[in-house]
Amino acid sequence: NPVQKRKPAWIRVKAPTSATYQETRKIMRDHNLHTVCEEAACPNIGECWSKKHATMMILGSVCTRACAFCNIATGRPDQLDPHEPENVAKSVAKLGLNHVVITSVDRDDLPDGGAGHFAETILQIRKHSPGTTVEVLTPDFRRKQDALAIVVGAKPDVFNHNLETVPRLYGTVRPGARYFGSLHLLHQVKEMDPSIFTKSGIMVGLGEGPEEVHQVMDDLRSAEVDFMTIGQYLQPTPKHHPVHRFVEPAEFDTYKSRAFNKGFLMVSSSPLTRSSYFAGDDFARLRAA
Ligand code: SF4
Ligand code: SF4
Repeated sequence: NPVQKRKPAWIRVKAPTSATYQETRKIMRDHNLHTVCEEAACPNIGECWSKKHATMMILGSVCTRACAFCNIATGRPDQLDPHEPENVAKSVAKLGLNHVVITSVDRDDLPDGGAGHFAETILQIRKHSPGTTVEVLTPDFRRKQDALAIVVGAKPDVFNHNLETVPRLYGTVRPGARYFGSLHLLHQVKEMDPSIFTKSGIMVGLGEGPEEVHQVMDDLRSAEVDFMTIGQYLQPTPKHHPVHRFVEPAEFDTYKSRAFNKGFLMVSSSPLTRSSYFAGDDFARLRAA
């Protein structure tokens, strides 16, 4: 199976142009804010920012792990900034975001894995922007006792933790993580607070087969996970894990109906789906239902 290098037409996106996008961009510049949207060069940025959805990164920009698909720097992380939760919250208010996703690098070096910082950021956003829905996209807090309870206790609207890929590919794609550990974490969130929506996602095109994707869906449903995202893996640089293949849009549609049939409340499955893509829309629709 030759590795396909050229991106098919369905992966290309239009350059963002809307006035809301421009305005959001200016505020990000002026305040020196770090968003995953920009740093990961996310293809959905025009669409998301126009709808006032964004993903903000906390806990610094250096990760203690080195996943094969991720473009974040690995090494000794930065000192924690105690003012970060409040600064992020003020920025969210200034941007007038409808939905914000708070995510972070993995901080195996911190005693609580950064959980306290996550919780404080949620509380500060509630204080400064009571109308904004908050989703957290967390690391696995491996071997960090109580970390999960700290984040869940701050009551995010959505708790998202990605499986990233099928279990067979963990060794090469997500070393340092455990598939069943991540599933267990998601299940624990639901057990601690059933009012929080749980969410997870995978990338496809890394060499997995459809049967393996279906198994992941079953595993997530067994862990009572509510929302699922499935998107095409894109190689950030030539040094990263190669793209095994570009999954066709029709296959994403098939995954989507499968997932709905298995009982997920919300499913986003398309070539450009990212973990935080359309999170806010989905959530608003579900709340209105
Ligand atoms: Fe940002 Fe997520 Fe939207 Fe990409 S999909 S632009 S990372 S909010
Ligand atoms: Fe990237 Fe997260 Fe892996 Fe760190 S743990 S390398 S931020 S995917």
